[in-house]
Amino acid sequence: LNRRLAEFGTTIFAEMSALAVQTGSINLGQGFPDTDGPEEVREAAVRALRDGRGNQYPPGPGIPELRTAIAAHQERRYALSYDPDTEVLVTAGATEAIAATLLALLEPGDEVIAFEPYYDSYAACIAMAGGTRVPVTLRPHEGSFRLDLDELRAAVTDRTRLLLINTPHNPTGTVLTREELTAIAELAVERDLLVVTDEVYEHLVFDEAEHLPLATFPGMRERTVTIGSAGKTFSFTGWKVGWVTAQPALVSAVRSAKQFLTYVSSGPFQYAVAEALSLPDTYFTAFREDMLAKRDLLAAGLADAGFEVFKPAGTYFITTDIRPLGETDGFAFCRALPERAGVVAIPNAVFYDHREAGAPFVRFAFCKRTDVLEAAAERLAKLR
Ligand code: PMP
Ligand code: GLN
Repeated sequence: LNRRLAEFGTTIFAEMSALAVQTGSINLGQGFPDTDGPEEVREAAVRALRDGRGNQYPPGPGIPELRTAIAAHQERRYALSYDPDTEVLVTAGATEAIAATLLALLEPGDEVIAFEPYYDSYAACIAMAGGTRVPVTLRPHEGSFRLDLDELRAAVTDRTRLLLINTPHNPTGTVLTREELTAIAELAVERDLLVVTDEVYEHLVFDEAEHLPLATFPGMRERTVTIGSAGKTFSFTGWKVGWVTAQPALVSAVRSAKQFLTYVSSGPFQYAVAEALSLPDTYFTAFREDMLAKRDLLAAGLADAGFEVFKPAGTYFITTDIRPLGETDGFAFCRALPERAGVVAIPNAVFYDHREAGAPFVRFAFCKRTDVLEAAAERLAKLR
């Protein structure tokens, strides 16, 4: 393994899912639903397979039906217009979108500012692209993890090439507010920065929170690469269909990298996702309400078990603080949890450069059936 990747080892998600299988634990670690997405979307995939649509290499940028559906989705929900031919690119999940974007846009030595804790592939992809990551730490403040805008401004240097944003945010569940996004946009314009915004949880926002795409802010459309994923929005994480929307020069750059990573992927699934994106609003509302009920169920269970719970405004993850349980080391806690309670969770420290800042935080996924969450809550109650 080369020096760029040596520090990354195996992803925590693979490690913890393997531990769940080995120990027969309830897996609230890796974020994947235990119920598949809509029947009619699965049927659409079967039809495409059977009718021979997408069984051979699809077009490099993605099938036109899907690019059109992605553009229509951005228009309908956010009044953002993208040309399906030049401003939309289909990728092998959001993961490839992130990798291709960073590989396409970074020069060796460029600095990338990302909020810490950050989704684990960000660090690895910045490293593969030869960039330098500059973490800005989200800190607990009145029940949620917030950004210190002064810290963000101070992190920008002459070498900063881009801001890597994630809202709704994995693992904290923070949804950036209009004020925070306005400040980020102003900074990007002032310092002439590119912005890559990972919005894969765009449909999972709860209570008063609202998902506001960064590309809708003044001066942002032309400097922003927006990333989405059917894995999250339609509960098909195994299909690996994601996308990028941006102005033509940025999409063309990302496509240059993408063509040598996977070239294309997921032929028949692209047809199915095109149909999924055209589902009526009732699908998206029901999906969100279902996840909201699950959030409340798991949050109550975790609070009863003695955790401090940061109730997420978005995503399907809950970050907790284990210190009320008399614990301080999330790694040790998560490694012992299968044995102690038959539950698997993720230590947030893996998402930090400043590991000590993340040490007492542990993430639980709630994209699971109600009976599974109830059983997990019952098991966790033993920790008290
Ligand atoms: N970004 C974030 C913030 C995520 O949580 C995930 C999935 N866990 C991804 C990207 C990757 O998405 P995909 O499965 O579509 O590659
Ligand atoms: N994004 C998912 C999570 O945060 C996991 C995806 C993966 O395993 N790479 O749990």
